Amino acid sequence: MQVKGYGATSAEVPVAPIVFERREVGPHDIQIDIEYCGVCHSDIHMVRSEWGPSIYPIVPGHEIVGKVVAVGAHVTKFKVGQTAGVGVFVDSCRECPSCQKGQEQYCDENMTATYNDFYRDGKTQTFGGYSANYVIDEKYALHVNFEEKDLARVAPLLCAGITTYSPLRFAGVGKGHKVAVLGLGGLGHMAVKFAASFGAEVTMLSTSPSKEADARSLGAHHFALSTDPKQMEALKGSFDFILNTVAAKHDLNAFCGLLKVEGKMLLVGIPPEDNTFGAATLISKRRSIVGSMIGGIAETQEMLDYCAEHNILSDIEMISMADVNAAYERVIKSDVKYRFVIDMKTL
Ligand code: NAP
Ligand code: ZN
Ligand code: ZN
Repeated sequence: MQVKGYGATSAEVPVAPIVFERREVGPHDIQIDIEYCGVCHSDIHMVRSEWGPSIYPIVPGHEIVGKVVAVGAHVTKFKVGQTAGVGVFVDSCRECPSCQKGQEQYCDENMTATYNDFYRDGKTQTFGGYSANYVIDEKYALHVNFEEKDLARVAPLLCAGITTYSPLRFAGVGKGHKVAVLGLGGLGHMAVKFAASFGAEVTMLSTSPSKEADARSLGAHHFALSTDPKQMEALKGSFDFILNTVAAKHDLNAFCGLLKVEGKMLLVGIPPEDNTFGAATLISKRRSIVGSMIGGIAETQEMLDYCAEHNILSDIEMISMADVNAAYERVIKSDVKYRFVIDMKTL
């Protein structure tokens, strides 16, 4: 089917109206008419080929919430009229050990990304949620059991939410732990909410003095300016975990120095240019750096249900589709409070 969206035809141009071909609803598929789509920093990285060449035209968007409007003959999990979500991937091999464990994001044959990828046939392109609809195998779609009025604030949970929930759970973060969150953007603000909700003592490490009050109202117990050497010196050796969401090159070594003995840096930010770190900082205190990518479908559903139960939602600025390029510029300047969400009615 022909679908209207917003996309880019190369790394050098802004996103603009585009019409693309989406697959028809198959026997195991549902069609979701998109109501809201979050703007993730990964959208910017990929639109601009910052992680290597992207597949053009590219239609970004992997924080998708909308209504089921069609279901294939074999669909059992969803009914027309229900609210459904789509996150960062829409398929995987379904057979490898990771897929069998429900950690499809680590699939041996690689997950199929929601956009900037090809389906398992290797030739049909995926296009994301800056568009009128999405067609997805029901196995990879999420149930969204929230009130209608909250749906725009649910969309960012599909990436920013699960990307921070999963490593905090994997690390067993809870009462008695001192956790720092590095970078108060889309991921960072969800990390603060989750870490506080799990019972940890949370410190926000930010380059933006203007974000202190917000950090505290999101649930941080302390705030420190990461650009102030005095404040950083005072925090040396003090955290069990640091959740690092920074999207630009930074001094990884200095931040690892803030970890206790055996402390762990949980790394989720993916700067276009890799950071370097010195072995001595890790070795001298048996510290480690643990990477983490989004979360599997089962854990994403668990996260959504946790948020519904504990009334955890993203803090958003709603924008019109046509404002997305301006929103990108603000995200790059770290001027986002704390996720832009596109009202897809404005497409
Ligand atoms: P974002 O909204 O832009 O937030 C990043 C924050 O990092 C900024 O708001 C800023 O916070 C801080 N920051 C920016 N430049 C910095 C610098 N030079 N030094 C120190 N701090 C800096 O981005 P996001 O959407 O949260 O995404 C963050 C990163 O995670 C991106 O690289 C994205 O691609 C990646 N990501 C990874 C996964 C995964 O599965 N691992 C999933 C989604 C996204 P302050 O103003 O507080 O300093
Ligand atoms: Zn994302
Ligand atoms: Zn697999």
